[in-house]
Amino acid sequence: MKNLVIILTILLTSLMASCEQTPEAPAQEPSPEAPAEEPAPEPDDDDFLQDQDGRVFSYIPAGDLLPSSGPGNMDTTIYRPDIVFPLEDAAFLNSQVYRYGGGKGEINGMTGSQCHSSNYNYPWQDTFCETRARDQIMCPAGGHEGVDIRAASCIPDTDANHWAVAAEDGRIIAPSSSRYTVRLQTGDGTLYRYMHLKMDELVVNDGQFVAKGQRIGRVWNDFFNSSGERVPTTYHLHFEMYQNYSPDEDTDPIFDQVNPYMTLVNAYEKKLRASD
Ligand SMILES: [Zn+2]
Repeated sequence: MKNLVIILTILLTSLMASCEQTPEAPAQEPSPEAPAEEPAPEPDDDDFLQDQDGRVFSYIPAGDLLPSSGPGNMDTTIYRPDIVFPLEDAAFLNSQVYRYGGGKGEINGMTGSQCHSSNYNYPWQDTFCETRARDQIMCPAGGHEGVDIRAASCIPDTDANHWAVAAEDGRIIAPSSSRYTVRLQTGDGTLYRYMHLKMDELVVNDGQFVAKGQRIGRVWNDFFNSSGERVPTTYHLHFEMYQNYSPDEDTDPIFDQVNPYMTLVNAYEKKLRASD
């Protein structure tokens, strides 16, 4: 009986305490100055950009990388607003290392084949300054100096041809010593590097002038390690863009890789609009 009294006393005390708190709670009335909330207009079909297979294009903001995959580089500059997107067909920017089929996919629970359907879908994700052992002006802690682009379909599954094309008019630099990189330099000095194309079947020659949109070669997996052994990477295009860049007004510009992500978003949106 004594125990019951104690329990009742505790219950009553806590009930009174909770009642006492009630009058102090702020009133949940909207401030008279707050504008009335208007429902968002129903989106028009034209607000969505769709690719050739009807998928709606979307992208994660620049610099927002997969968890535990590096600091990224929040550069939203559209350095080259008039380029052609460097692949002819639909394309998917995302990590080759930290997703399905990559060496570190398990960090984010993405274990499986490089042909996993989520690798071949939107949203795009930036991979500039993804963790690497190499230093670069934009990635001082070490990082990936370009972005990785998957083709419209996973080549081991589909055996499809997916062409990389010239982003601008320019000259091809692809000497025979270049094992997995094709460079393209424009008249004003902008330099692009295309990596991992099928190098023994390029459709351009070293020194050749090409027009914007002209085919260069097929997206492939050519890669060699530092010992010179052929070690295939995932099927993708590694794409770099060099510009004169200075981090602040007091520093002389350095010709180096900058983040091409928003330049590519802009080019892809224009391409999808044009194909509507
Ligand atoms: Zn890459």
